[in-house]
Amino acid sequence: MNIVLATNNKHKADEIIKIMGIEDYRIYLQNEVLEFPIEIEETGNTLEENAFIKAITLYNIIGMPTLADDTGLEIDILNGAPGVYSARYSGDNANDSENRAKILDEMKIQSVRTAQFRSVLCFHDGVRTLFAEGICKGEIISTERGLGGFGYDSIFLPLGKSVTFAEMTPDAKNEISHRRKALNEMRIIFEKYR
Ligand code: IMP
Repeated sequence: MNIVLATNNKHKADEIIKIMGIEDYRIYLQNEVLEFPIEIEETGNTLEENAFIKAITLYNIIGMPTLADDTGLEIDILNGAPGVYSARYSGDNANDSENRAKILDEMKIQSVRTAQFRSVLCFHDGVRTLFAEGICKGEIISTERGLGGFGYDSIFLPLGKSVTFAEMTPDAKNEISHRRKALNEMRIIFEKYR
């Protein structure tokens, strides 16, 4: 099956391609199949809505099966924030480093530090719209650790681990991540349609 990833995020695309493997799926990046680069606006109020918007919008442009991932960091003591606003938590044009700084500042006074990453996938092929979800639980540490990964990886310690996602090898992150769990669930759903 040929699938086009509805993302411009190279880190995310690399993880998805590595996790999905190459046996049954040929995965294309959206900029490999589009003549002009596009930025799909994430106007939804939930991760589900945003994943849906990205998958459908890209399908309507290229007419090939699409897969979108929308991911949020959900911090318990902040009532699930930044959640769907993870990409622009410290402002509309915020970068990852500014977003991490805002979280660390807000969490300075907090002793309850539990959090989770939640990934929602949406696949659309013109006939079917399929969803899958993956959650990775952990906690927010007080200072950044590690140079790998992206986004909030350097402030997130997965449950039962002594290293952050940013201190792990890409393979180690991919073994336990929210994205891996969501892709595993999506693979099982795909099996039903073979
Ligand atoms: P989106 O899913 O591309 O909208 O990403 C939302 C925000 O979460 C962005 O700030 C990303 O950098 C961040 N993010 C997405 N996936 C991950 C991840 O696997 N680890 C850490 N941060 C992530």
